[in-house]
Amino acid sequence: MFNSLSDRLTATFKNLRGKGRLTEADVDATVREIRRALLDADVAVPVVREFTGRVRERALGAEVSAALNPGQQIVKIVNEELVEILGGETRRIRLAKNGPTVIMLAGLQGAGKTTLAGKLSKWLKAQGHSPILVACDLQRPNAVTQLQVVGQRANVPVFAPHPGATSTELDQPAGDPVAVARAGVEEARQKLHDVVIVDTAGRLGVDAGMMEQARQIRRAIVPNEVLFVIDSMIGQDAVNTAMAFDEGVNFTGIVLSKLDGDARGGAALSVASVTGKPVMFASTGEGLDDFELFHPDRMASRILD
Ligand code: GDP
Repeated sequence: MFNSLSDRLTATFKNLRGKGRLTEADVDATVREIRRALLDADVAVPVVREFTGRVRERALGAEVSAALNPGQQIVKIVNEELVEILGGETRRIRLAKNGPTVIMLAGLQGAGKTTLAGKLSKWLKAQGHSPILVACDLQRPNAVTQLQVVGQRANVPVFAPHPGATSTELDQPAGDPVAVARAGVEEARQKLHDVVIVDTAGRLGVDAGMMEQARQIRRAIVPNEVLFVIDSMIGQDAVNTAMAFDEGVNFTGIVLSKLDGDARGGAALSVASVTGKPVMFASTGEGLDDFELFHPDRMASRILD
């Protein structure tokens, strides 16, 4: 991802090499190229406008630096702006001071939430945590089983509403995700798990019923983090989806999934920019290890490499 954006920007900046001083026309030409490259990478129009506006303003107002030539200065500005959009400093999970850290996953069906639950729990386990997964997606027939399979692969227990097939079982009223979520957090407390990851139901599109359910779960379990999982391939739709989820559940961080595909990267930049929320993790494949902490500075450097 970002390969073509990266190539385009690098080519643009190459044209500035060797220039002693940048005229306003040089800056404008460069900003125009940046705008085209971002639009072609599927970054949302308002985000592109804001981004290029800031770059232009800073580039024109930049103090002459002895250490950097003007071309390098623009690269530095673009780099800083990209880092800023993607969330600034690497944002780690906020752990609860008392009791288990509760992490809720939200996003459309197929975004990659259940897969992420497995990846995140394996990753946390490797760091010495003792996570438990809670299956609150009671809408999709196979969702609970899918989470159980993921839990088995990650070697992490799954709390689910159907007794029998789970490693930690209980008699919960099947069909009430809010009750299951609450009971799952209680189970974690009792069994001394220090992290609870709550998988929730998604629909194919934003839906008022689904959002209300997610909101109720959020209210019931008071999560330390609400991670919004978004398929990086969805392009321009990403902005509306992200804004609807942000309004619905006020998420605390973004997880970009399917970064291994040929997404052009626009969704990532747009979602982070319009919500002002940090990108926290990247999912890069179907395997449990295809997952990493997201570093905005490294991603920006990769784009401008
Ligand atoms: P959910 O409906 O949000 O729980 O989504 P799932 O976790 O079931 O994922 C939907 C599909 O996307 C599954 O076939 C996953 O194997 C696949 N998937 C999830 N994350 C990734 C990823 O990072 N890369 C790729 N290539 N596929 C993924």
